Amino acid sequence: MTLLTFRFAPSPNGELHLGHAYSALLNQKLAEATGARLLLRIEDIDTTRCTPEFEAGIFRDLNWLGLDWEEPVRRQSEHFAAYQAVLDRLIREELVYPAFMSRGDIRAFIADSEKRGRHWPRDPDGVPHYPARDKALPMKERKRRIAENMPFAWRLDVETAVARTGMNLAWMEFGDETLQATRPVEARPRDWGDVIVARREIPTSYHLAVVVDDALQGVSHVVRGQDLFSATSVQRLLQEILGLRAPTYFHHRLILGPDGRKLSKSLSDSGLATLRDAGVQPADIRRMVGL
Ligand code: GLU
Repeated sequence: MTLLTFRFAPSPNGELHLGHAYSALLNQKLAEATGARLLLRIEDIDTTRCTPEFEAGIFRDLNWLGLDWEEPVRRQSEHFAAYQAVLDRLIREELVYPAFMSRGDIRAFIADSEKRGRHWPRDPDGVPHYPARDKALPMKERKRRIAENMPFAWRLDVETAVARTGMNLAWMEFGDETLQATRPVEARPRDWGDVIVARREIPTSYHLAVVVDDALQGVSHVVRGQDLFSATSVQRLLQEILGLRAPTYFHHRLILGPDGRKLSKSLSDSGLATLRDAGVQPADIRRMVGL
């Protein structure tokens, strides 16, 4: 029988806080309970926001918490060639297109459209969908703009992708922390519009790298925060068009701040390093997150 595999996949673009501690420790607890592997993956594709200092902080915090992961750690920034190969395939299969509109262009386009009474769709994060205008650009024009070094991002043609995969996409979600039972959740990738799957300078995006790596690393159980629940719809579609096996998911509760709001990486009072410096012990952290 193949071993079950869990992973914790932080991004070194800020300091870890109690929410990350909960996610990491829950993955560890579930991996231990099922005799599974636990992997650590550093999701550092955003080379402008991720820093070696934040990464060092992640290792310091996780070692201190007593997290025990399998080596080697996969660092996404070291695997751009692998993502490029997957992106090339999506380009060849005409599932992505170069999108040239700047943020200002998008805003103006949508404002104009709304002025004319058209309701503009927004994604689950409240961001307006990308206008489909560039999808219709003739190949010659695309090539001309790319040759002229115009900035662009590769966006998924969600309608084409959905049409090619069949309409009934779902993922399996565990009901609770005991991982006893699953239920199917309908994937709604259209809710996101044409998401970015790669940038001109970086041959991947969060969504693409996560599905490629989860498959490559044989991840069977993705346990992560509820804040990524809706994103799973996009990831499920990418898995389907790339022919990747889908893991089973559990989106856990979020640890909220005293104000009842989601913790952010700039809220230093719930930062693990700050808590440690104040004399808080790993056992206290476990208690604070309810583990
Ligand atoms: N790297 C992502 C984050 O730190 C998590 C990705 C995932 O668990 O799928 O928010």
